[in-house]
Parts: sequence; structure tokens; C-alpha cells
Amino acid sequence: MSTPPAMLHPELLAEDDMHAIYRDGHRLDHAEAASKPLRSRPEPQPRGAKVHGNRPVDQAEAAARFIAAPEHEKMHDERLWDLRQKRDREMHGIAEWEELRSLASAIKEHTLTHLDQYLEQFEDNARSHGVHVHWARDAAEHNQIVHGILSDHGAKSLIKSKSMLTEECGFRPYMASVGIEVIETDLGERIQQLDNEDPSHVVVPAVHKLRTDVAEVFSRTIGTDPANSDVHYLAEAQREATRPLILAADAGMTGCNFAVAETGTFVVCTNEGNADLSANVPKLHIASIGIEKVIPRLEHLAVFVRLLSRSALGSPVTQYTSHFRGPRAGGEMHVVLVDNGRSERLGLEEFWTSLKCIRCGACMNTCPVYRRSGGLSYGATYSGPIGLIIDPTFNQRKYSNLPFASTLNGSCTNVCPVKINIHEQIYAWRRVLVERHETPLAKKAAMKVAGELLSRPAAYRAAIAAADMALAHLPRFVIYNGLNAWGRHREVPHPPKQTFHSWYQANRGEKK
Ligand code: SF4
Repeated sequence: MSTPPAMLHPELLAEDDMHAIYRDGHRLDHAEAASKPLRSRPEPQPRGAKVHGNRPVDQAEAAARFIAAPEHEKMHDERLWDLRQKRDREMHGIAEWEELRSLASAIKEHTLTHLDQYLEQFEDNARSHGVHVHWARDAAEHNQIVHGILSDHGAKSLIKSKSMLTEECGFRPYMASVGIEVIETDLGERIQQLDNEDPSHVVVPAVHKLRTDVAEVFSRTIGTDPANSDVHYLAEAQREATRPLILAADAGMTGCNFAVAETGTFVVCTNEGNADLSANVPKLHIASIGIEKVIPRLEHLAVFVRLLSRSALGSPVTQYTSHFRGPRAGGEMHVVLVDNGRSERLGLEEFWTSLKCIRCGACMNTCPVYRRSGGLSYGATYSGPIGLIIDPTFNQRKYSNLPFASTLNGSCTNVCPVKINIHEQIYAWRRVLVERHETPLAKKAAMKVAGELLSRPAAYRAAIAAADMALAHLPRFVIYNGLNAWGRHREVPHPPKQTFHSWYQANRGEKK
């Protein structure tokens, strides 16, 4: 008796699938990578905030577009919540977790209050190993210094590992403007580079993309099969396309997670080993280091390394924790210590502790707003809770809406490995922005009315009674219309039969 043909819907069969498994002339249903999504047209990727010069970024508008793409929103929310849960499991495995957080916080606060001394110590020790140390006041100076080093070596191409500092400095566009090719070596960052997008997360830069989005980007840029979104296929194709560029690069660049003053060494943590490629393949290695990355002693490193990866990805340690001390044999190493607003931030009484941040992303993974709106909706280098307190230090007007993109639930503060009081700083920014008239007119007017009402109990109670009456009797279209932003996404709760105030008066108030 002949074998019956496999019961597979033709829609599920990729036309040219080299991995398909056949038996007796028939294709098997469960062959790995033999299927393609039922929907022939995947959901398009929602793009980030529309940024117009110095105008306030409308995070809510971009978030609404992200939420309107249900596959993306669901995947993003679940993927990040998964990281949060893994972080919790790791945390519960370490009895002294809270002591570690307190210690990390104390080390950072001590270092930040003696920053000049530790930076000079780092510089002296790094120079003693033959490292060239440069100081950059701002992003422009950073880019010019790196350009100068590359020009001195006649370098035309640069491979680099992920660095939020270089994003902050607009480094890639600057290098493109002076004719130097930059190739990202981190897979997520490379995906974002090929798609001409910024990273949406400090640790997982392309976390907002579905596999089908990556397949679309790679088919457009490196010629992969647009119908094949198999992750192994995509990763391998990218590796094949990028390796020759890495091997031929004239210079390499890394960021830095921790710079140790005592030894003049610095540490880069990655999961792909890509920093090691950037540092070791070309003879010229340049490291961009934010001045807040310095820690006093080598023994302090253990505290941060134990916290970083557990907080970031819920893994005990990053796959690679690479220590750099000096140039490789026959090579040259440069370190650029970058301020770019950090000294100014250090002087902000309510916000200086944001400099303790070790960029683990845990606050982003736990934030309900971030998880549902995607990092690119913030229209800034830093997104999520930490972005809400850092971005306004760069430009108060442009990022004036961001501190309002938070529920202030405090979850970010609870998970932060260096104990930054994130939600309190977000709240403090709201006050500062209102005082400096950096909030939109509608929000300002609403807050003025709320302020008047809340300061007059009788007027407040009358307004509540009128609203309850209106909600109970007005037709739906009067309440749910374009003017009611709250009602666009939610149902207004039914008014209670009795307010707490009237209940209190009836049951606990003074009897007349
Ligand atoms: S603020 Fe805290 S939780 Fe958020 S990225 Fe920085 S260190 Fe991590």
C-alpha cells in the first residue's frame, strides 16, 4: 500500500525550502523550517515617533500607532515581561541581592561625588599602559576626535560594537557625512542600522521587530529570501554578509560598561563576543567612555557584574566580559572620555543620581507604558523610565512630554540594580517642566482647572456631583467624542451611587 500524501495546506509550504524533509516522494508536515506564516502579508512594522527639530515629541501619537499593530504590541509586551520574570528568578537565587543593590548604589554615589579624582586616576593608569586618552566636552567634540584618529591612520571603515553613548553623539550619521563606513557588529544593532532606525532598547536594540520585519529588512539590504523568516537562516545570512566587512575593517570601536580607576582598564560586557571582534581584528581600537562609567577599584567590578546581566536579561552573567588594558601587539588603543552634559546633570540636585545608571534596561522591561508602546515611540536616544529622566537633561522642550508617559507605579525603582529613585525623578520632572512652562497648552489648562477645583472642596464636590449626573444621563456620543482623550481608549467607570464624602458624612460625620 502506498503512503498517503501529507495533509499540509499549500499555503503553509514555502516554495523553495532547502530544509524541507521528504519521504517516499512526499513532504512531511512537521519538517523544521518547512512552513511559512498563514498570513501571506505580515503585519507592517509600526515606525517610531515623528521628530520635527526642537518641537515636543508626541510620544502618545507614536504609542497609539504601536498599539494599533496587535502582533507587534503582544510580542513586545510578552518578550519584555519574560525578561522581567527571568530577572526575578535570578534575583531570588541570591540571598544578598538587596545588599548588592545598596552596595552598588553606594559605590556609584561615592564615585560620582569624587568623579574628578577617579577620572584622573583612570587617565594616569591607562596612559601608563600605552593608551592614548582624549577628553570630549560634547558630542561634536567626540565625533571630531574619533574622526581625527581615523584620519591620522587613513582609516576608511570602522567596525563597532553597541554603544548608547555613540547613539547619543549621533556618531553614525556624522561618520557617513565624512565618508567613513561604520559597520555594527552586534546583531540587533546591525538590524537597526540596515533598517536606518535607532535602537529601541539599551540591551536588545531590535526587540520591537517581529521575525518577519527582520526578513523584510534583510531581503531589502542583503538579498535574503523575503518569505523565509527562520531565525537561524537570517542570523547566518547576516553573518555571511558582515564577516568579510569585519575582517577588512581599518579600525574598531567599542563602548564601555565599567572603567576601573585603580587599574586604568575597562570592561565591555556582550553576549555575542562582538566587542572582541571590534577590539581585536583591526590594529586600531578606539573606546568611547561616558565619564560616569568609572568605578574606583577592581574589587567593585564583581558587584556590578553580578547585578548587570541578571537585571538585564535574567542570566547569571554575560557570555563575554572582556577586560581591555592596552593596545594589542603592534596596535594602538585610544580612549575618549565623554562628558556631553553629564557634568551639568551632576549639578542637578534632584536628578544627579540618574548618573548611577548601568544601562541594564530592567526599568524598561518592567514598565507597562514602555512594554506597550515600544522604545522608538519616545523619539529619543534613551527610552523607557530611564529615558524619561535623562532625555529632558538634553533638551527640556523637545522631551517635555516624556515624563508624562509613566503610570508612576514605582516598578522601575524596585528593579533598578543601583537603586535610582526613577519614579520620583519622573514626578520631579513633571513639576520642573510645568514651572518652566514646557508643557502643552491643553495640559497646562487642564492642570490649572484641576488645581482650582482641588483647592476648593465645595467646588470640587459640586463638580463631582455634576459629572456623576452627566455620566448617568447624557447620551454616549456626548461623552465619547474626539474631545475626550481619556475616553478614546477606555470606558469611563460607572458613577457610584454614593460618594465617599457623603457616606462619611452619613456614617462617621458629626451628628447635628
Ligand atoms: S535606571 Fe536602573 S534599571 Fe534602568 S537601565 Fe539604568 S540601571 Fe537599569
